[in-house]
Amino acid sequence: MASGLSEYKKREEEKKARQAGNLAPEIDAASGKMINPHNPEYITKRPWYLGESGPSLNHHARQRDDSILSLQETEEILARQPKKFLGRATVFRKGACENCGAMTHKKKDCVERPRSLGKTAKVSGMDIAPDEASRGVQEGKLGWDGKRDQWAGYRAEDHERVIERYAQMEEERKRQAIARKAEKEREKEEKRKEKEAARLKRREEKVAAKRARDSDYDSDEEDEDEGVREYLLKDKDNKDFQGRVARQGGVGGAQMKVSVRNLRIREDTAKYLRNLDPNSAYYDPKTRAMRDNPLPGTHPEELAYAGDNYVRTTGDTVALARMQVFALEAQEEGIDVHAEANPTAAILAKKRFEEAQGAEKEEARKRVMEAYGAEKYSKKPDPRLLLGQTEAWTEYSKDGRLLKGAPRAVVRSKYEEDVQVNNHTTVWGSYYEKKSGKWGYGCCHSLIKQSYCTGEEGRRANEVQGTASGNGRSREGEASGEGEDGKEERRKKSKLTGEMTTRAELYGTEVSGGLELDAKKLKDAVQRQRAFQEEKVELDERRRGYNTKGEGEVTKEEMEAYRLVRRHGEDPMARVGSDELLEH
Ligand SMILES: [Zn+2]
Ligand SMILES: [Zn+2]
Repeated sequence: MASGLSEYKKREEEKKARQAGNLAPEIDAASGKMINPHNPEYITKRPWYLGESGPSLNHHARQRDDSILSLQETEEILARQPKKFLGRATVFRKGACENCGAMTHKKKDCVERPRSLGKTAKVSGMDIAPDEASRGVQEGKLGWDGKRDQWAGYRAEDHERVIERYAQMEEERKRQAIARKAEKEREKEEKRKEKEAARLKRREEKVAAKRARDSDYDSDEEDEDEGVREYLLKDKDNKDFQGRVARQGGVGGAQMKVSVRNLRIREDTAKYLRNLDPNSAYYDPKTRAMRDNPLPGTHPEELAYAGDNYVRTTGDTVALARMQVFALEAQEEGIDVHAEANPTAAILAKKRFEEAQGAEKEEARKRVMEAYGAEKYSKKPDPRLLLGQTEAWTEYSKDGRLLKGAPRAVVRSKYEEDVQVNNHTTVWGSYYEKKSGKWGYGCCHSLIKQSYCTGEEGRRANEVQGTASGNGRSREGEASGEGEDGKEERRKKSKLTGEMTTRAELYGTEVSGGLELDAKKLKDAVQRQRAFQEEKVELDERRRGYNTKGEGEVTKEEMEAYRLVRRHGEDPMARVGSDELLEH
């Protein structure tokens, strides 16, 4: 131990001598550099497990090549290394990454997005990634993060250049905008000057003309008048209209707060559910806007929601926007109109302007009409007359009876109707006495045809008489056996002659025993009916009395012919020509 102690004492003395500067400092065995004699012991002392070596600070350095590098260390190493590009391979090499084809890593460590099976470098041999430059393997091993660090080797200074480039672009853009604006300003000024010159010239001419006529002249009034007229002539109602509507504030406008605009009542159907077709109107989920109509096939007024653009330009929005446009344009012309500050005056001014404009347009139209003689072609009959349509409201019950509205016009027969003779106020047949089974006049209840009307008194008298005679008659009927048997007999007789006797048979609601028509008779009847319609028959045939008999009773064939040939008056399309169809 004595030697150990003496050695220790010797080392201590040497140390003190070095610190005092009496002895040269120690030299590092590994790096050959001087070791600072003032270093504290905990720095200079070598840990026991590293083994003995000469005087050195080597134990502070990395001891093994396979130690794991941190991300920071990796960065530092890569920053020191110059960037290397090793080039791309054109075929898949054995042992390369199966995903991207780079030689420097395995598939397990690949940082590229896993390719689909058919497109991996191994299978397709296409688009092989370049090998990465080796990363400081000599100084340690890359950690898990270091291997997968996509930004490894990225130099932040490089981004400076990108920023610089954009700054230059912005500078150039500004310069050009200023130049453009100056150019526009110059053009505007030139135009204004031209206008001014033209106006002055015109005024001078006018003054000269007026002076020649030696009349007094009020320049101010004339000037203003001319300005207004010039303005009236300009029909720029629609100019910039959309743009101004889009820029203005108000409900749904650009200035409305985004949060308020985006709120919807949650129980309402969401816009994007109106039409589930992905190719229908575009819904922007961020702004929650759907500008187009989701159901373009349907009329917007029939829809609960027809797109934001439709809602934005309905109701008074349009009127207000037009008002504002009018006010702005009037101000440009130097007329003192303000839609917000003095709305009443503005509305009045607009009304007057529109009247003046309307009158002018009407005049121009009239001039053109006169010049071309188009007046008689421009008039069109009422479409209701053309199409036989009406807007009168009628309601019907289930069985077809009229519930509400004017009764349907009776379809006229081919005979004269509503002929009132001999002072009667109703036609023959307007009264039916049940008891006697006879027809008469409704006004006086007279049962004798061609009798003179006896009025209210005669009616009372006839009623008294009718009850008496009716009773007698019914007894007569019973006596002669005219009951069910009589009817049956009549039916049999009518079948033999081909005549239609019962009302139901005649009007086709009920056909007894199947309808059998004689082809030849039907043909004749149709011809006769056609001739009648084309007014080839003599007029006295048409003027035949209401219920006088013709050549005989109406036969089945005649009835059928009437139905075949008649025009369906109730068919609204029957009278429609092709030109009307185009219009409506
Ligand atoms: Zn790879
Ligand atoms: Zn009468």
